[in-house]
Amino acid sequence: MGALSFEILKHDKQSHARIGLIKTRRGDIETPYLVPVATLGSVRALGSDDLQSLGAQCTLANTYHLHLMPGDELIKRMGGLQRFMGLNRPTFTDSGGFQAFSLGFAREHNIGKIGNIFPDELASNGRCANAKSASGKDGDSSGICQDGIYQDFRRRYDDDCAGENDGKKIGIMHNDNCSDDNNNDREGRRAKQKPAKKENLTRITDDGISFKSLSDGAWHFLNAEKSMKIQSNLGSDIIMAFDECTSPLSDYDYTRRAMQRSHVWADQSIRYHDKDQALYGIIQGGWFEDLRRESTEAICAQPFDGIAIGGSLGNSKLDMHQVLDWTVPRLDENRPRHLLGIGEIDDIFECVARGIDTFDCVSPTRIARRGSLLISPEAGGSKDNKFHINIKSAKFKEDRLPIDPNCTCSTCRTYSRAYLHHLYVSRELSYFRLATLHNLHFMLRFMEEIRESIRTGTFAAMKVRWLRMT
Ligand SMILES: [Zn+2]
Repeated sequence: MGALSFEILKHDKQSHARIGLIKTRRGDIETPYLVPVATLGSVRALGSDDLQSLGAQCTLANTYHLHLMPGDELIKRMGGLQRFMGLNRPTFTDSGGFQAFSLGFAREHNIGKIGNIFPDELASNGRCANAKSASGKDGDSSGICQDGIYQDFRRRYDDDCAGENDGKKIGIMHNDNCSDDNNNDREGRRAKQKPAKKENLTRITDDGISFKSLSDGAWHFLNAEKSMKIQSNLGSDIIMAFDECTSPLSDYDYTRRAMQRSHVWADQSIRYHDKDQALYGIIQGGWFEDLRRESTEAICAQPFDGIAIGGSLGNSKLDMHQVLDWTVPRLDENRPRHLLGIGEIDDIFECVARGIDTFDCVSPTRIARRGSLLISPEAGGSKDNKFHINIKSAKFKEDRLPIDPNCTCSTCRTYSRAYLHHLYVSRELSYFRLATLHNLHFMLRFMEEIRESIRTGTFAAMKVRWLRMT
């Protein structure tokens, strides 16, 4: 076998959903699967032993951030990312192209990485789904969710602060983009101030992307060759072609130019990548039908091991479905398909139904740290409450129930909502681990249930039960 093989085990009869098996040199990944995000080689608040006990099949780390800290050469000397992390499971890495957006356009236009990714949905809801504050205003020092623009449109791999400060901040509440946890705290006050326009920290040309590091102000240059070299040093199993991730605010002409650049870089990525690593091409083209089609054709014509769908997915979830409908039917059946930066429950149903195999998203672990704990429909979870309770609410102060009575995670088997509420409000560090363990366990079991439902021909029924569709 090459660096990767993929086998489809069963197709759903009523949709394009499928279960499959991705085989890599370090182990197999049963799909559909939500890949836990370990931006800096760590799923925040968890140890690799936690990931083992959760049964995590793989993780996804960030090329750009690991290149800066601790450095890919160092990781290579330490035996590669898996040995460095102490986790002998397959690892995905991004190419660094997402930072073209997160450190560039997103900063310049005060567009943040946190919050719902689809502005139209937020406009209609009048709120920021993931970063809601007690006052109804959202935002933090990194410029999230401001002026009604909620453009974390892919929530790809930057976990919280990493894209804004190169990971210098630690995931504790005051520094954790958690303005929602206490409206009177420092971050809460900042959120009410008009955000200043920030420096664009990227320079993009046809040759590559220069990034200015927030930690020391130095400029770092990435191109396809260098991104492939860094990912080779990291020793990940599944790597991404170097691309430019554009914004939903980018116009047609810019999106086209960026797409064309990404296609050239895709060719170069094929040429320069370490042949022991499986390489995914990334389809770009924003929310423009002809560009998506052109990009799908160009990427699929190349001998990539897998296909990722990246870039702007439009301004609403319906737009995202449209992008997938333009793209997925044109993909060949026999390569695994990855959707970058999507991972909420309703999205997963829709995207699995359209034939997506893997996802990655920081949402489950990020929202855990902010107090949002996932619950199943049996415990009151629904599309309306985004399948979570807000543990900071005073109503949980004396609640003896576990987060979700149906959950079998170690947190739910051991602790009450009252205890987790106490840990949260008293800012105990243990809260982060216990909350993250629950949310990740919840999502991994959810994906397992999806696979089982496809296996038994009950995927449509599961979707109806979770989304309460009539
Ligand atoms: Zn649990």
